[in-house]
Amino acid sequence: MDPHSHARPDEAAATHLDLDIRVDMEQHRIHGTATYQLKRQAGDSVVFDTDGLTIEKVVLGNGSEAKFTLGMPDSILGQALRIALPAGIDKVAITYSTGAGAKALQWLAPVQTADKKHPFLFTQGEAILTRSWIPIQDSPGIRITYNARVAVPKDLMAVMSATNPQERSSDGMYSFSMDKPIPSYLIALAVGDLGFKSTGKRTGVYAERGVVDTAAWEFADMEKMLEAAEALYGPYRWGRYDVIVLPPSFPFGGMENPKLTFATPTVIAGDRSLTGLIAHELAHSWSGNLVTNATWNDFWLNEGFTVYFEHRITEALYGKDYNDMTSVLGYQDLLGDMAQIDSSKHPEDTALHLDLKGRNPDDGMTDVAYEKGYALLRLIESKVGRPKFDAFLRGYFDHFAFRSITTDTFLVYIRKQLMEPDRVAVDLDQWIFKPGLPADVIVPTSRNFALVDEQLVRWGKGAPAKELATKGWGTFEWMQFLRHLAKGQTEQRMNELDAAFHFSASGNSEILAAWLEQCIKNGHEAAYGKLEEFLTTVGRRKFLVPLYQALMATPKGKAVALKIYGKARPNYHAVSVLTMDQMLAWRDHKPPATF
Ligand SMILES: [Zn+2]
Repeated sequence: MDPHSHARPDEAAATHLDLDIRVDMEQHRIHGTATYQLKRQAGDSVVFDTDGLTIEKVVLGNGSEAKFTLGMPDSILGQALRIALPAGIDKVAITYSTGAGAKALQWLAPVQTADKKHPFLFTQGEAILTRSWIPIQDSPGIRITYNARVAVPKDLMAVMSATNPQERSSDGMYSFSMDKPIPSYLIALAVGDLGFKSTGKRTGVYAERGVVDTAAWEFADMEKMLEAAEALYGPYRWGRYDVIVLPPSFPFGGMENPKLTFATPTVIAGDRSLTGLIAHELAHSWSGNLVTNATWNDFWLNEGFTVYFEHRITEALYGKDYNDMTSVLGYQDLLGDMAQIDSSKHPEDTALHLDLKGRNPDDGMTDVAYEKGYALLRLIESKVGRPKFDAFLRGYFDHFAFRSITTDTFLVYIRKQLMEPDRVAVDLDQWIFKPGLPADVIVPTSRNFALVDEQLVRWGKGAPAKELATKGWGTFEWMQFLRHLAKGQTEQRMNELDAAFHFSASGNSEILAAWLEQCIKNGHEAAYGKLEEFLTTVGRRKFLVPLYQALMATPKGKAVALKIYGKARPNYHAVSVLTMDQMLAWRDHKPPATF
């Protein structure tokens, strides 16, 4: 059973969705009908998840109106919609509209977009937000195919995680089809003044018109990534692979919506150095979208495998040094996250398999699933050797294709296929079910970073910035340098660094964010204007969390954090707002309601 869904698939499970909706960009509302084909097994009702939806009516397959009830609202799970099903009925049509503040939806005013002329809408379904814009059995363990008809204003274009148009229609009507069974969190929609540019036979980029050329240049390697991925783990089964670049408030780096990855514009660095993110989202076409975690407690099955796969793609394209650097940075992220989790209310969350019952599944989406999961797979790879491990992974994706599995199912499979025949000495129970990092973890190293560390030592001893040997450094070397600047840099030394390397003016979001964090930690207030500009433009949670956290840790920073957040909050998506509200105890700072 999935603790985060009201659905009872053992009684009646949806198998196909026909969605017919109208998107009202002015009223910020979606209105329409979701028609489901059901597979009934027992009982006399079907249960869907909803959150903030108004259910207008439900019509049964025989044309009669159905009786339905809405359960008690739960702040995390929303409300159960229970529809009575007479014998022989296997189809229901639910007419509904979305509510104000639907969590999956972010409605952007023109000023929040790149081109500043048209409004924009995007959805974010993972983990349990799809229920806020479609009544649905919202569990990753339930898979459906879908068709959709979407009406949008004539001057805008709609795209989904499905077959997509490459040009705007004349009447604002769009039809979509996803003929492979996918979990609900992968149903996604974006609406805006979009252009499209091809990057290869099967790949291309959607973005606002003013961004599309830049994005296509940045992601020029997409086709090569797709070929590298197929060479590793078998055919890509989804037809086309496209990416849409969203406005900067998108809360994640990327979201692996099938056929159409949703991506943050903060990976457009101008030098193609951050496109590892595309390799990650592409890898999800196997790990996550093809073989899916059955519940959010098994989230590491989606992310750990994807980080491993991502590294294999980037290694094939960009070589071992690149990969070593990103592995070290990922390991640093893991240690940072684990230290925070250790001192939190839930120190048990450093286990790979989680127990998120009664909690928001978003709480479990930490670097543990990603980087500890990766570390485990890397360890097993080192024990059995690459050829065997690759054969195992390919077999795993084939065996469980288009299925959702639990950690236990995975364990039975890997023990039988790999661990027992090869007598692999890895304690899977400890790695997966126990908190902490086992002693046999392989700590990644990088020869490029060894050179960076030498320059850090020189800087620490007073060498002038201009004399540091930084020639040929890319994004990752600079991240290593900035992350490890010693505490207590003087104002003069911070100015010297910025004058030599132009961090404040960097168009590379990773470098800029790492620099701004150091500015906060070293009290370099000259950079606070830039900090405010960054935090009020970008909504990517990965950047928000460390920057606000660093602010909160300084004596004057709390007031600054709250001031910036008050301004920035309307520009953040609900998943970022949730995290930041908790971190900044925002509710306590709201003025009391006067009416
Ligand atoms: Zn991922």
